[in-house]
This record gives sequence, C-alpha cells and structure tokens, in this order.
Amino acid sequence: MTEQLWAPWRLEYVKRADEQPGCIFCLAAEAADEDGLVVHRGRRAFALLNKFPYSSGHLMIAPFRHVADYADLDDDEVVEVHRLAVSGMGAISTAFAAQGYNLGWNLGRIAGAGVLDHVHMHVVPRWAGDTNFMPVLADVKVMPEHVDETRAKLAAAWPHG
Ligand SMILES: [Zn+2]
Repeated sequence: MTEQLWAPWRLEYVKRADEQPGCIFCLAAEAADEDGLVVHRGRRAFALLNKFPYSSGHLMIAPFRHVADYADLDDDEVVEVHRLAVSGMGAISTAFAAQGYNLGWNLGRIAGAGVLDHVHMHVVPRWAGDTNFMPVLADVKVMPEHVDETRAKLAAAWPHG
C-alpha cells in the first residue's frame, strides 16, 4: 500500500491557480533567482522550488518556452528537463539526504496540474515516514520562509558539470 502525502495547501493552490495573473513559470524565469525561487538555470529549461510543495525540497523543472503541451516540447527541451531533474535529485540528496523520489508530470487539471499552460515536471523528495513530515497545521502563509532557505541550500548543493 502506498501512502499518500497529505498536503492540504496543495488543494487550496490548485483551486486558486486560475486566479493568479500571469504565468508563474515565465514570471519566475524573468525574476531574480531569490524572487522566483529559481534553483538552477540551464540553457532551455530551469529548476525552481514549488511554493506549495508536497514535501520539503519539491522542485519543478520547466522549459523556458511557454508551452502548454508536453508533446510540443522539442527533443533538446525534453532531454534538458530530465537532465535537470537528475541534477536536482543530486542537490536534494546532498542537502537533505532524501531517501527516494517521485518524478512526474501532472497533465491536465484532472491529474492535479495547478498550472495548465506551461508544462513542467515535478521532483518530489521522499523520506521514510514523510506522510507526517509536514506539520498538519502548515499553511501557505508559513511556506515562503521555508522555501527561501531551501532554495539557497539547493542552489549551493547543485552538482557542477
Ligand atoms: Zn509560461
């Protein structure tokens, strides 16, 4: 039996995602790393922290190009997104000693996508017993403090080369 991560702030985020002005990925790509929670920038894709994580260190990898459909990514973008996911796992392992990962694409609102028009991959670190990793009372108001610190740690731990 696989236990589900319980992340109530995710539900609130998915419900409100349509109300946000602009594309969070394009805005993050244009912002300073600290403001956009960008951990690493590649040539065609970049890694950023999820402000509403399933678990601490939850990364998203997105192409710089504003593309809605996974099928519209070109080969270079597909390869780089996956390479960045590998590097991201390396950084998370170094900084937070994750014991496992869930990697995936939520395509479509029914599949849990909060943002529908800029395709992105999730890298979710897992630890034994992490269904209780987040305090039950954690909410979106306290998360930004955590992600600022997490962003700096992951950027510092990002593997070179
Ligand atoms: Zn976009």
